[in-house]
Amino acid sequence: MLKVGLTGGIGSGKTTVAEIFVSYGVPVLDADTLAHQLTTTGQPAVKKIACCLGDGVLQADGSLNRRKVRELIFANPEKKQQLEAILHPLVYDKMQKQLAQLNAPYCILSIPLLIETHKIDFVDRILVVDCPEFMQLARVQQRSQLTQAQATAMMASQVSRARRLEIAHDILDNSKQTASLLEPIAKLHTFYLQLSST
Ligand code: ATP
Repeated sequence: MLKVGLTGGIGSGKTTVAEIFVSYGVPVLDADTLAHQLTTTGQPAVKKIACCLGDGVLQADGSLNRRKVRELIFANPEKKQQLEAILHPLVYDKMQKQLAQLNAPYCILSIPLLIETHKIDFVDRILVVDCPEFMQLARVQQRSQLTQAQATAMMASQVSRARRLEIAHDILDNSKQTASLLEPIAKLHTFYLQLSST
């Protein structure tokens, strides 16, 4: 099965793009969703994260206080690295297992940190969703899960827009209305089906 890695900076539109592929019946595996599942209450990763970041990241019921985790790793890059060292291998492992269950000509693997985690060989083709950085920030702000400082810091910790575009096989411009994604995605869908059959 052809594996298309969907990546892009924070707030660039990965989820929006993935949803359109889903509407074509294309299976989509999402690294962020897997990371979330792996850190639900009782999962082994939660204990490891508490060991690394301190019991203060746990709530009374044993669940992870995600806001606190965000704050801690924002303030401490070393802790961020340690957290990633726990989570990233688990995410790729789980994705690999889910991949083995799929039966489709191609699939989309949404992996925000595909390049940063040096995993470009995990996929056969790289699709980058792109928009100017000021739009990324504005859209993230609108969604308001992160403060402007957190969003800016996250952007700075990711590879540059130029590097991402350099490594892309395919690029989706998401600087216009969401509807303008429909036609290029329809073309990509046809193209990926063709590729997967050759
Ligand atoms: P993250 O990296 O934070 O997971 P993402 O890359 O998955 O984000 P989306 O969640 O798809 O990005 O988009 C970020 C926000 O921007 C969302 O609120 C989404 O609705 C909005 N958005 C996406 N594309 C557009 C667009 N073309 N025009 C306006 N808003 C958009």
